[in-house]
Amino acid sequence: MNPVQFIAAKRDGQEHSSADLQAFVQAFMSGAVVDYQAAAWLMAAFLRGLSSAETLAFTDALANSGRTYPLGYFGARSVDKHSTGGVGDKTTLVVAPLCAALGVVMPKMSGRGLGFTGGTLDKLESIPGFRIHLSAEEFEAVVSRVGVAICAQTSDLVPADGRFYALRDVTATVESAPLIAASIMSKKLAIGCPSIVLDIKVGSGSFGRSLEQAEALARLMLDLGSRAGRRMTAVLSGMEQPLGLAVGNSLEVLEAVAALRGQGPADLREHSLALSAQIVAAASLAPSPEAARPKCLAALDNGRGLAKLAEMIRAQGGDADAVLAGNLPRAPLVRTVVADRTGFVSSIDTRCVGEVAMQLGAGRSRKEDTVDHRVGIVLLAKVGDAVQAGQALADVHAASEEAASAAAFALRQALTVGDYPPRPAPLVLGVMRG
Ligand code: URA
Repeated sequence: MNPVQFIAAKRDGQEHSSADLQAFVQAFMSGAVVDYQAAAWLMAAFLRGLSSAETLAFTDALANSGRTYPLGYFGARSVDKHSTGGVGDKTTLVVAPLCAALGVVMPKMSGRGLGFTGGTLDKLESIPGFRIHLSAEEFEAVVSRVGVAICAQTSDLVPADGRFYALRDVTATVESAPLIAASIMSKKLAIGCPSIVLDIKVGSGSFGRSLEQAEALARLMLDLGSRAGRRMTAVLSGMEQPLGLAVGNSLEVLEAVAALRGQGPADLREHSLALSAQIVAAASLAPSPEAARPKCLAALDNGRGLAKLAEMIRAQGGDADAVLAGNLPRAPLVRTVVADRTGFVSSIDTRCVGEVAMQLGAGRSRKEDTVDHRVGIVLLAKVGDAVQAGQALADVHAASEEAASAAAFALRQALTVGDYPPRPAPLVLGVMRG
């Protein structure tokens, strides 16, 4: 493997063979290819694209970089879920325990924050003691005891995705359909669940800006999964504004807990129910998503989902009592952004909200950066809400005065108040099957 020639081939628009892609991933894992070479190739792949054969080979190379579970290892009722990533998307924290409480087995490998979106793992690490790095044996033990575990790529499980993922996060190489598809599907194929439910985000707060882009990404992932013998479902969901109100790690955990108490923002509740119904039906615990919905609603409102979340947190070393008591680290400063006129919130620049959260410290701009779990944004009004001049639109949770001022200024530009409310946008834009 000559990494320079390999990078040059993609730079010049050539197609890699499966064997070369495999060798490149192996060389990256052994250290023969170093980070800057992998980053250069990622940019070449981002700009030139990967063919479907290359995407398949790259997915397999990532999935096979660690141990893989045979299809059905976690049982016929095991279902894997993954989101392509969106601002304020804390759905996994609601849906995974909720579905596990209903008998679905949910062995889940998640990701850290990526670009301007947050990641489930960073959110979970805001819980004191919570361990996202589990050995394969620990992961299996938690899944079999609790029915749900959420872990990171490790040296055992899809390690190559963990390393490419960290580079993509900080090299502007996230928004590439083949790279997203390979990253997500490698984690899903390695776990071996017979059914996979994908949440494909569409809109300015996600990596699929248009419905056409999101559908193309969904089709790519559905094909990768179907070829590997998985029953595939993709829910296309709107991301023209943040999901829920909270953006930022511990703030989002607390909002997910509220949703599992039957409270919390209506859109988060509705979206969690829509996805859970697909997952429960995919596990054959209901004949259809429509039939599954009342069961999901009950588990949300009777506290069974919340009890399962607490059980999972304890099993992974976290302080569930702190989470249930709302006792997570808080930012020292809260700065409120107010409306400068009376009217209706007509749009939220969701990508900008994600970027503001990152600049506050909720995400990374370098691989080595540590995340400040306390910081973020809580919206106090959403698109369509009527507001009076001077009314609070959002709270910025910041670590310092300077960060609070910069964030409040940027956020003010991201929230537009106009004369009329826009037409309400649907949360679920469509469902595609493999
Ligand atoms: N989630 C992932 O795991 N990978 C991506 O590339 C995007 C979202």
